[in-house]
Amino acid sequence: MAEEGLARRRLAARNAAANAVVGSATDEEAIRGVLSALGDGLDLTAAYYWRPASNSRGLSVAESWESPEAPPQPDVLPHGEGLPGQVWRTGEPAWTDGAAATAESAGTDPSERGSAPRTGGASSIVLPLTVHGTLAGVLELLCSRPVEEDVELLGIGASVARQLGHAMERRHAQRELRESGERLRFQASLLNAVGEAVTALDPEGQILYWNASAERLYGWRAEEVIGVSAEEVTPELVAQHTPDVLARLREGEAWTGELIMRDREGHAFPAMVTGSPVRGEDGDLRAVICTSRDITDRKRFEEAQQFLADAGRVLASSLDYLATLEEVCTQSVPLLGDCCIIHLTPESGDGGVLPVAHCSPELTDEETARLESAIAGPDGVLQDVLGSRHPRRIDREELEGTASGRILRDLGIAELLAAPLHARDQALGAFTFTRRADGPPYRDLDVRLADELALRVASAVDNGRLYRDSEESSRAKTDFLAVVSHELRTPLNAITGYADLMTSGVSGELSEEQVRQVERIKVGARHLAHLIDEILAFARLDAGREELRMEEVDAAEVAREAVVVIRPDAEAKGLSLDVDVPSHGPRIRTDASKVRQVLVNFLSNAVKYTEEGSVSVRVRPVTGGVEMSVSDTGIGIPEREHDRIFEPFRQVQSPNTRTVGGTGLGLSVNRRLVEILGGNISVESAPGRGSTFTVRLPAAPEEAS
Ligand code: ADP
Repeated sequence: MAEEGLARRRLAARNAAANAVVGSATDEEAIRGVLSALGDGLDLTAAYYWRPASNSRGLSVAESWESPEAPPQPDVLPHGEGLPGQVWRTGEPAWTDGAAATAESAGTDPSERGSAPRTGGASSIVLPLTVHGTLAGVLELLCSRPVEEDVELLGIGASVARQLGHAMERRHAQRELRESGERLRFQASLLNAVGEAVTALDPEGQILYWNASAERLYGWRAEEVIGVSAEEVTPELVAQHTPDVLARLREGEAWTGELIMRDREGHAFPAMVTGSPVRGEDGDLRAVICTSRDITDRKRFEEAQQFLADAGRVLASSLDYLATLEEVCTQSVPLLGDCCIIHLTPESGDGGVLPVAHCSPELTDEETARLESAIAGPDGVLQDVLGSRHPRRIDREELEGTASGRILRDLGIAELLAAPLHARDQALGAFTFTRRADGPPYRDLDVRLADELALRVASAVDNGRLYRDSEESSRAKTDFLAVVSHELRTPLNAITGYADLMTSGVSGELSEEQVRQVERIKVGARHLAHLIDEILAFARLDAGREELRMEEVDAAEVAREAVVVIRPDAEAKGLSLDVDVPSHGPRIRTDASKVRQVLVNFLSNAVKYTEEGSVSVRVRPVTGGVEMSVSDTGIGIPEREHDRIFEPFRQVQSPNTRTVGGTGLGLSVNRRLVEILGGNISVESAPGRGSTFTVRLPAAPEEAS
């Protein structure tokens, strides 16, 4: 009867344990349920679940069920110690009977030494808990009665441990499934959070994947396009799948490029597209993952930078700002509008603005004129903009009811972008761009661009006007010089003429003293005439009034004529004059009087800046022309001055330290004369070592021939 009761109770315990296994939500709950079902139902002293301790030095109790007689357990059961340690090591179930067994094993098995106090003399059954073939822990049942022979009890323990293991396996599988589902959802939301459109195509071009950004960018929803051929959805993307690109993708190479894509509505936009291959383990292409990004803004920014650079070049290319403004207008259409108009305040500074340049390919001349006056009219936008420093967007509603608003409506204009032109605190005018209703509206980028352009245009206009002013004043100065020189010349001619007359003896013999005095008058007059010639030549060149009289001449002959002019001065200073000129020199086509003037200028400088030694002239033919040089043994010129001495009025010695006269114009006249004759000048000189000025002239200058 007692046996029957025991069997029933054991069955009930087994069922309770099975229920705990099935009905628990977590592994821990299941283990706890099993331990208490067995502990209660089988009259155990205690039941433990041992698991590797967190510090991995041995096993520790993770779950337990204990009766009041339960012996205390150590925090950690060192590796291999006790029956739980043995089972953990072998993976095989083991059992031992209470005090008798302990006494027996005390001398033989060191691992079981001292286990009697741990089990409190109770029998112990230890069962491995295996999950997916791996030991997860061990179950220990402490029992006050011997268990060695109790096959049924051992069987119950083993079967419950097995059930528990299976349940844990199932739960792990479920957890993994749940986690991998979560992982997938996580990856999907990750891809959706990416700003770029991410799509995937199979090797046949069918769409496999389409993220949220792709939906936004292309306007197609994922469920509309997945499974559809990409050719129908983004033909432009497919167009890149040239055999070459496909071959590269098959090789595992990625592809990147810019394409013009189109959205569902048919709007085209530039996109940066990448294609990356996904290959199977066999190396075959399984899919292509494409990303695409709208790069309209970047493109516009690049375009804007390019436009500003081009406009800057145009504006800097000439000081004739009216011509460059016209070109800038043309360049800015259609980037900044369908039409560009520039108004400027008149140079005289009178009030009002005048249209000075426009580009309006879509309007007739008459319409352009109406637009120009509507903008500048009393209720037009320019009145507003001129007073401010910043560009402004103005739509038609803003001008509703005004006369200019009506004109804009008639011309089909929806929006204006107007920017004031300001330089040195002065309003110089404004430019205005217009856009039709069917175009994209003005954006911040356009406003910034207009602002940048306004800065450049304003400074070009300002520079142009300043240059014009300075040119005018410089022309006035040149005219003044020409007039004065001319007026000086007439009395000077009289002086020279009468001096000649006196030395000729026509008006009576002169005494020796008188002849010397008249000769000094003549030297002074010659010098003065030379200075006046220099000023006149400079004035003519500066005003661009120099005319060329081209003829074929003997270069040697011209040089000899120049030497004749300078010989008296050289002799007066006791300088020797070496003339190394062939009797028949190279013939060139040039303006002989200008060449003579150049040589006389060089020679008179050579004499002027040389106190002793010699002055020499040399003429020789060179390829394509002739080379003429004038050398002296005079004071020389420091190298840093070699370029500057050709500037008008530039003199190496300051007026205070100069011992010789001069206008500082001779070399600048020479340089300009030689330039218009198609030649060039070079100088070799060093202080104390003399100077050589060399002129090279072409046999026949291109523009003059
Ligand atoms: P200037 O009327 O002062 O001679 P130029 O234009 O002819 O003016 O020459 C400019 C300056 O170059 C001179 O003032 C002088 O300092 C220097 N220069 C020109 N020719 C010579 C030379 N042969 N030797 C030394 N210095 C020279």
